[in-house]
Amino acid sequence: MPPPCSIDTLVIGAGLAGLSCAHHLDRPFLVVEAADHVGGKAKSEHYEGFTFDVTGHWLHLRDPDMRALALKLCGDEHFMRIRRLSRIWSHGVYTRYPYQANTFGLPPEVIKECVMGAVEADRRRPEAVALEDEPENFADWIRFYFGEGIARHFMIPYNAKLWGVPATEITSRWCQRFVPRPALADIVAGAVGCNEKAMGYNAEFLYPRTGGIQTLAEALADAVGRDHIRLSSPIARVDPVAKVATTADGADIGYRHLVSTMQLPHLIDRLTEVPAAVRAARSKLRGNTVRYLNVGVRGPLGQPDHWIYVPEEKWPFYRVGSFSNANPAMAPEGCAALYIEMADRDTPLDDLRGTIGEGLCAMGLIDDPARILFMHERVIDNAYVIYDFDYHDSRAAILDHLGPIGIQSIGRYGDWNYSSMEDALIDGRRAAEALARTEATR
Ligand SMILES: Cc1cc2nc3c(=O)[nH]c(=O)nc-3n(C[C@H](O)[C@H](O)[C@H](O)COP(=O)(O)OP(=O)(O)OC[C@H]3O[C@@H](n4cnc5c(N)ncnc54)[C@H](O)[C@@H]3O)c2cc1C
Repeated sequence: MPPPCSIDTLVIGAGLAGLSCAHHLDRPFLVVEAADHVGGKAKSEHYEGFTFDVTGHWLHLRDPDMRALALKLCGDEHFMRIRRLSRIWSHGVYTRYPYQANTFGLPPEVIKECVMGAVEADRRRPEAVALEDEPENFADWIRFYFGEGIARHFMIPYNAKLWGVPATEITSRWCQRFVPRPALADIVAGAVGCNEKAMGYNAEFLYPRTGGIQTLAEALADAVGRDHIRLSSPIARVDPVAKVATTADGADIGYRHLVSTMQLPHLIDRLTEVPAAVRAARSKLRGNTVRYLNVGVRGPLGQPDHWIYVPEEKWPFYRVGSFSNANPAMAPEGCAALYIEMADRDTPLDDLRGTIGEGLCAMGLIDDPARILFMHERVIDNAYVIYDFDYHDSRAAILDHLGPIGIQSIGRYGDWNYSSMEDALIDGRRAAEALARTEATR
């Protein structure tokens, strides 16, 4: 007998991927969400007139359909168009992003080491390198393309701080899209201060005028229809044979199709039956922990950046960003809203406050630590999936198992990858289209 509640398509998760899937579906559906709000990682917190996202959540929309969707949902006028202002702070000076093409301004011996390393790497590298011939290990890949100096002064320490694991444990395959690879001529031009090119995947972004990034998810949820979204309903069990998902409070929901955006390892943990090989693959999936601080500051900031990379090991954070530099409405009048992403994931915050204040002053963001009004600590588990050497086979073994049992696992965490909000929106649309095709061929 089917359970009392049955639905054609059950979508787990009301983050951007789940909501986008629901929005694009042409059949009856229900979205179940563990949290008491929509948005997933694209959520915003409000505190005493400050608004904070889950660290920087800047919207880069390249796909014309997704751009049109976001503008239609929120209203064109809701978004500010912002030209990225991000720099790197090391050796006590600011240089432009990306480091590899902008070493001008650093101490001369550092510039020399970076340029000589890049020249040497260029000399050693064959003219054309097929993807499969690139070094597999990320540390080797960095040296292969940028040389020893850029590796030592930025790429290796910065990535170790961000990922929380050494670059030798990571494969290079994650980074093709995200790490700009300037030509040698651009590296040299950047070393002498005449590189005018804006490089990288995120030279411009959109940001809501009010309410933070969650306003995008809220607008999407409105379009989906709130009656179709059940909040505070974590799925605790999925029986893919009976096609029943059960919430933590014991409610059974029968479905014909299941689209899950929950974290891939968590989905496997909730399946009633899992082959040993899939369980083994699941145990090899790794993600890092991001520990970050929402920081309120009295008075204006001394730097205009939206975010600043901090590669040096002596500082316990790897990136400092400012919501209010992008949009002043994110902080009360006369104040600024910062986020600080921590490389030190363990030391109690109280033991780090002094160094953090000192760092913000050294960076010229504030002139006195007493201007820090509050620091609120937050932690995200599995914030970035780790592309280690087991990653591809383990992920493939799991996804290959899920397809035939009728589960589409999508989104940044369902598909277990490094992707953006736009990718989540695209994933959702793609899942809905796949279901439409399945039905059409029945
Ligand atoms: C630190 C950080 C910074 C980022 N910065 C940017 C940026 O600047 N620009 C950008 O484009 N992207 C950024 N991203 C990526 C962006 O956040 C994600 O790509 C996107 O929000 C993922 O959406 P999603 O729906 O796939 O996943 P999620 O947002 O994680 O949504 C999944 C949903 O499933 C729910 N769920 C989980 N388990 C269950 C369960 N058992 N039952 C029911 N519901 C469940 C969760 O509560 C959540 O709401 C960043 C990500 C991080 C971690």
